[in-house]
Amino acid sequence: MRHSIVAGNWKMHKTVSETHAFLDDLIEKLPTDKEVEVIIAPPFTSLFSAVHHLEHTNIVVAAQNMHQAEGGAFTGEISAQMLKGVGVETVIIGHSERRHYFHETDAILADKVNTALNHNMRVIYCIGEELKDRQNKQYLNVIFNQLKDGLFHLKKEAWTNIVIAYEPVWAIGTGETASPEQVQEMHAFIRREIEREYGNETAINTSILYGGSVKPSNAEELFSQEDVDGGLIGGAALQAEDFTAIIEAI
Ligand code: PGA
Repeated sequence: MRHSIVAGNWKMHKTVSETHAFLDDLIEKLPTDKEVEVIIAPPFTSLFSAVHHLEHTNIVVAAQNMHQAEGGAFTGEISAQMLKGVGVETVIIGHSERRHYFHETDAILADKVNTALNHNMRVIYCIGEELKDRQNKQYLNVIFNQLKDGLFHLKKEAWTNIVIAYEPVWAIGTGETASPEQVQEMHAFIRREIEREYGNETAINTSILYGGSVKPSNAEELFSQEDVDGGLIGGAALQAEDFTAIIEAI
């Protein structure tokens, strides 16, 4: 069901003890009057203890990535079953840093989505255009292709476990945020394309998050756009104070 979500993507930050310190701070500061799902995605090494630390809270722990294979000779990789084994049911797939630095193509990402869904996991699927795509006015085409190649092979029923995160690559970690109008245009486009492929019910029930330099000072304006259901937060999710201020903005 479509609902508000604020998710923190910690990337390669925080040891186990730093994770605990952050979570204690977050639990203390978290607003209780907000109807919002709060997700944190720590590195793999902190997943197990984060799940335990948050056992009696509503805060959800997600992984930042997983491998598409069920298991085998893939040194350094983590499977869906391993994530489920530590109590993680949500996984971010297709982050632009995975696409860029680790050469994850839409075909690989589609496999990862399939594996995650086969394990009944929920997927936060990231899409986003590069600066040159925006300058060349190709940004809608690029996003359409990412949706088509990564997700549009799925059956309609699978969409109950899909959340989309629109993250323009030029706005990630750059301090440069897409304008509320640019974000709304893209989110409405994404919802329209889902509707075209799967019908209105799936489209209005899919949560679409924005990511890319969201911070306490711009969160409210971004989140108030009609088709924006929350955010995927990088840098500003590393301090409980900033992160809770962004949650307050929902
Ligand atoms: P940022 O990162 O908030 O630091 O721009 C967002 C993300 O990469 O998910």
